[in-house]
Amino acid sequence: MKGSEWGFETLSVHAGVASGEHLGATAVPIYGSVSFAYDSAEELADIFGRKKSGFIYSRVANPTVNAYEQRITALEGGAGTIATSSGMSAIATVIFALCSSGDEILCGESLFGGTIQLFERIFVKYGVSIRYLDTDDLEAVRSAISSRTRLVFIETLGNPKLDVPDLKGLAALLAVRKIPLVADCTFTTPYLCRAGELGAALVVHSATKYLTGNGSVVGGVLVDTGTFDWSDCGHEEIETAVRQIGPELAFLSIARRHVFQNTGCCLSPFNAYLHLLGVETLALRMEKHCSNALALAQSLCDHPMAKQVNYPGLDRSRYHNLAKAQFGDRYGGLLTFELASRDQAYRFIDALKLAKNLANLGDAKTLVIHPASTLYRDCTPEQTAHAGVTDRMIRVSVGIENSNDIINDFDQALRSTGGIR
Ligand SMILES: *Cc1c(COP(=O)(O)O)cnc(C)c1O
Repeated sequence: MKGSEWGFETLSVHAGVASGEHLGATAVPIYGSVSFAYDSAEELADIFGRKKSGFIYSRVANPTVNAYEQRITALEGGAGTIATSSGMSAIATVIFALCSSGDEILCGESLFGGTIQLFERIFVKYGVSIRYLDTDDLEAVRSAISSRTRLVFIETLGNPKLDVPDLKGLAALLAVRKIPLVADCTFTTPYLCRAGELGAALVVHSATKYLTGNGSVVGGVLVDTGTFDWSDCGHEEIETAVRQIGPELAFLSIARRHVFQNTGCCLSPFNAYLHLLGVETLALRMEKHCSNALALAQSLCDHPMAKQVNYPGLDRSRYHNLAKAQFGDRYGGLLTFELASRDQAYRFIDALKLAKNLANLGDAKTLVIHPASTLYRDCTPEQTAHAGVTDRMIRVSVGIENSNDIINDFDQALRSTGGIR
C-alpha cells in the first residue's frame, strides 16, 4: 500500500495489502504452502539469484508472513521487517548478525529474564561478552564503549523495573562511534513510541505480547528503522551488502540470508494470520491498557496495604517526565507493587478472582505473577537484584477489562490477605 500519509490506526488495519491483492480478501489469506512453483527453470533461477522477486520456500519467506512484515514496517515507519518465530529468536537474529567471538554487547541492567538467559547461556559460550550498565548514566555508557562494542541493547520500558532509558541521548552518543542502538520495544509498541524516530537503529518486539494482544500466539519481529548508516559500520558483509543493494535493506538482507534462513526461526503463516488480526486493534487496546494501568496504579497508591507502587505514569516516578516526552503522555500497561512479604504476595495472588496468575503479559486479560519465584528463578541473586525484583513484588499486566472490575478485584484480594495494617 502506498501511504506513509495514513495515520497509525489506518495502517494497523490496511498496510501490507495492495488493493485487489489476494482476490480482494479483507483478511490476509493463510498461504499454507511450503514452496512455490514456477513454469520456467530460468524464472526460478532468477529468483534464487535475486534478479527477480518471488517466493521460494516458506522458511525463507511466505506471502502471509510478508504481508504481516509490511504492516509492521509501516507501523514502525521503518525500512523493513523480519518476522520470527518468537521474540527470543528476533533478538538472537540481531546478535548473530552483528556479533562474533571477541565482541562485546553493552546492555541495560533490567532486561527481560529470557534475554539475559539467551545472552549468558548462548552468546557468552561463543565468546561474546555482555556488560550490564546503568543506562541512566550516559557518561558510564560512553566510557564503557570500546573497539569491541558491537551494539547497545536496551528495553524502551524495562521489565519489571519499568525504567525508561533516554533513547535520544543514547543514540546521539552511539552515532559518534557508529554503534547501533537496539531497542526491545515490546512494552511500548510503535503506538507509544517509534524508537527509530528517537534514534534506535533496530527495533525488536515480542509480538506475543501487545502487538497481537490476545495471548493466542508466540512470535517476534525485527525491524530496521532505516536511521542507522550501515555503510561504515565495521561489519564487512553488511558493508558489502550496502554497496550491492544500498543502505536501506543491507542489514536485513544479511540478517535474513545469513542468520534467519539458516537458523530456521521462521514464523508460521498460520501464526502470521493471527498476528495480523491482533495488530488491527493495537491503537484501541493500547489506549485502554494505559488508562486502566494508570487507574489501577492510582488506586494502589491510595491503598494502605500496597507498597512501592511502580508505574511511570505516576507523577512521583523518577521516569515520569522522560516517559511523558518519549511515549506521548502514555505509560504502558505494566506496573509492579510490593506487599509486606513473599507469603502475603502469594496469598494475594491466590485470592484474585478476575486477574490470572501466569507467565505472560500484554494480553487483553489482566495478569499477575510473582517474578522472583518464577521468571527470575534461574537468574543469580545479583541479576535478580539488578532487575529490581524483590521477593515481595508482584508484577501486573493490566488488561482491557472494565477498570472498576480490575480495581475491585485487587481491593478484595488485598483485604483478604490478612487485614489492613
Ligand atoms: C516476552 C518478551 C521477550 C521474549 O519474547 P517471546 O515472544 O516470549 O520469545 C523479549 N523481550 C521482552 C521485553 C519480553 O517481554
